Amino acid sequence: MQVWKFGGTSVGKPERMKSIRDLVTANETRKIVVLSALSGSTNALLAMGESLMKGEKAEANKQIDELKAHYDQFLTELFSTENGLTEGKAIVEKEFGFIRSLADLKIYTQKHDKQMVAEGELLSTQIFTAYMKEQGGSVVLLPALEFMSIDADNEPELAKIEEKLTGLLATQTDKQILVTQGFICRNPRGEVDNLKRGGSDYTASLIGGAITAEEIQIWTDIDGMHNNDPRIVSRTFPVRELLFEEAAELAYFGAKILHPSTITPAKMRGVPVRLKNTMAPDAPGTVIKSSISGGAEIKAIAAKDNITAIYVHSTRMLNAYGFLRKVFDVFEKFKTPVDMITTSEVSVAVTIDNPENLDKITEELSQFADMEEHDRNQSIICIVGNFLADKPGIAIRILEAVKGIPIRMISYGASEHNISLLVDSAHKNEALEALNEGLFEFN
Ligand code: ASP
Ligand code: MG
Repeated sequence: MQVWKFGGTSVGKPERMKSIRDLVTANETRKIVVLSALSGSTNALLAMGESLMKGEKAEANKQIDELKAHYDQFLTELFSTENGLTEGKAIVEKEFGFIRSLADLKIYTQKHDKQMVAEGELLSTQIFTAYMKEQGGSVVLLPALEFMSIDADNEPELAKIEEKLTGLLATQTDKQILVTQGFICRNPRGEVDNLKRGGSDYTASLIGGAITAEEIQIWTDIDGMHNNDPRIVSRTFPVRELLFEEAAELAYFGAKILHPSTITPAKMRGVPVRLKNTMAPDAPGTVIKSSISGGAEIKAIAAKDNITAIYVHSTRMLNAYGFLRKVFDVFEKFKTPVDMITTSEVSVAVTIDNPENLDKITEELSQFADMEEHDRNQSIICIVGNFLADKPGIAIRILEAVKGIPIRMISYGASEHNISLLVDSAHKNEALEALNEGLFEFN
């Protein structure tokens, strides 16, 4: 069994949805097909929720009418038979009936907002399943809300998911394609919840891990993971193979193609993740797995913006054990993850990407350390590859490439797969281009 996930743009137009049917039925492999909402739907649903939170009912109803019209049009272009269209219309009427009932509530809460945003995936999967049936496909819908769950810390419960999903699959042995919703799940209160924006990739990986699938395929509209950001750098190419560790670093440090948590469940069960392009289905894409033979030393570069660097000085760090603990306790207290760390004898520099509690953090740190002015608008540039600790020459190649660019922090040695630089965001594009030219060969 394989798990194939298609994002919003892959299902966002009727003709794209049709080509997804062609793709998933092109071979005999049984598949769980995970779908996002049609592109634009999640944003539209969130906008309705915002209107309702503000008590702007008329505005919300207008937004609902607009989205409904979009779906009505979509259906007429997707289905080719009277029966198919009737089926599609029934789905849209039912779900929009529910959306309207949310809009009619006297008090619209967070709980309702989660139900609202889940409608995107509920719509796309039911419409796709109905379309597959119209075309004579062997297909069934597996409701994600029956098996996908998170705990009180919003973490997916892999063991429970595995148990429920395995049970559900045991009742569905004859169908070739099993369609399910990305993104949505239930929380410990049994309410509808989600895996946060972009979470459909995560759903695919959780399912693939839970059933130890043969492979997880994430279909987008770019040729796999590129060696650098194609929107910024002039010459990039798809990376054919990545280790789980390398892909995780890239996703966390800014490569937009994968949701950062995606790799974990697949890695735990050793299920390969393949990134494929719906526009070029025969292209090999990128495969992420647990071991690779050979391959380039430096694989790819990613950048993460909106980073704040915080500088903490202590005149008594020398011989003072416990100083770092005190520093990190402060970040823990304010639930603020630290990305990069460098230390000297008397100073520690750390970066954070969520400055929400910056003032409180600084205030608390200043009770036992000297605080220098922090730097906002920084970017972490993360260079990923297989950097064996006893192999010389990697750091010099990187520093040589960026020799004209001011570097704020360097982090090297914690992982054999990541070297990170902190630069002012004003220098980011220039640094990415310089690293690209300095570290990769182009023919
Ligand atoms: N539809 C959700 C979003 O737009 C989940 C996803 O597409 O991955 O964030
Ligand atoms: Mg996505």
